[in-house]
Amino acid sequence: MRFFMGTHQPNWATMTAAPLFISDVRLRDRKTLPQARGEIAIDSGAFSELTKYGGWVSTTPREYVDRLRRYHEEIGNIAFAASQDWMCEPVIIHGGQVGRIRFAGTGLSTLEHLRRTVGNLLDLRSLATDLAIIPTIQGHLRTDYERCVELYDRAGIDLAAEPVVAVGSVCRRQNTTEAGEIIAAIIEAVPGIRLHGLGIKTAGLGAYGSSLLSSDSMAWSATARLEGIRLPGCHGHKNCANCLRFAFLWRLRVLAAVAGHLTRPAPDGGPARTQKGSRDVDRDGRAQRLALTGFREEAARLELGIGIRWAYEDGMSVREIAELTGMSRARVRRMADADQDRPVLAVLRELRRKWDLESDPATRAAADYVVATLTAAVADRAAVAQRQDGSNARGRSASCGSGVGRSQNARPRPRGLIRDGGGPK
Ligand SMILES: [Zn+2]
Repeated sequence: MRFFMGTHQPNWATMTAAPLFISDVRLRDRKTLPQARGEIAIDSGAFSELTKYGGWVSTTPREYVDRLRRYHEEIGNIAFAASQDWMCEPVIIHGGQVGRIRFAGTGLSTLEHLRRTVGNLLDLRSLATDLAIIPTIQGHLRTDYERCVELYDRAGIDLAAEPVVAVGSVCRRQNTTEAGEIIAAIIEAVPGIRLHGLGIKTAGLGAYGSSLLSSDSMAWSATARLEGIRLPGCHGHKNCANCLRFAFLWRLRVLAAVAGHLTRPAPDGGPARTQKGSRDVDRDGRAQRLALTGFREEAARLELGIGIRWAYEDGMSVREIAELTGMSRARVRRMADADQDRPVLAVLRELRRKWDLESDPATRAAADYVVATLTAAVADRAAVAQRQDGSNARGRSASCGSGVGRSQNARPRPRGLIRDGGGPK
């Protein structure tokens, strides 16, 4: 699963090649825009729009499309943009006060929200065929989401053929079992659909994270603000609500949650238990899926190990990393101390051979994606470290917010994580 880190700070796009999720609300009034180093996904700001106005008032589809075009040209590297969807939580529809937030309420029916969500995608696409604007499946109950899928189908949008489809609201709910069921229902209705979970909760990731192609979250920032977290080694801010270093550590936690799930055995028991009457084709397909799962599982563990070593090098203690990832201190210590002499790319190549992923094109493409993501992350880290070494040499100390950050007690970095031909461009 690819994780787009949600941020209020558009200039992070120039500081990291990690995928970022940035709202149109944060970009639209800027005279100059950052040039992205990594992939950027654009959020339409639907939540704040509907909360504040009870409808799409401040931005017409035409205005949104014009701005998206500007983002494509000036920021660059836009992976996709969300549509101007209509979320369906009761408080969005009926309005009211939750904590300090006042919801205006739309006063419309859930079905009308779904119709408008689908209608907006058609509007946006009729205005711009060249921008990667993705459909969002909305709903409140499971049947709403199924209804929404139906509406897309009737509108001539083939969700299975879309490069990525967002699923809204589902991941914000407290009940993660329900969220998992909704995601499973969507996948059952549209086999092969590639889902992006909008605003995920880390708690649900163990259950359904591996069913998602990608997801995003701003939860790290809210947590730092509400709980007044300031990492050791952070100076110059009261809490880490806008701190890149803390955001990267949260990313670790997300990866740990997904990896935890992947390391558990698959519930269906594998190809030995093929059902009566299943054809050879099914068996081949299942074997391919299992091999890919095995590969992803080992790659996820590799990524987690790398992330933990980085956090440790950045001055986090074993105890802090253990608390953040929910892992035992002994395991964290083992992973932090592990020798990673071999370049990541070499390890991944070996894993590919071991799992025999080359015969089926779709499996091969899925493996390519994992390799590209992981090597890009390592190359990015190396680039940031190099820049910091440069700035340290000029006598400036790196502070929180200048890349992945290093505190005074930073440990020496192991050399040669990526020696084998470098990462993808
Ligand atoms: Zn900080």
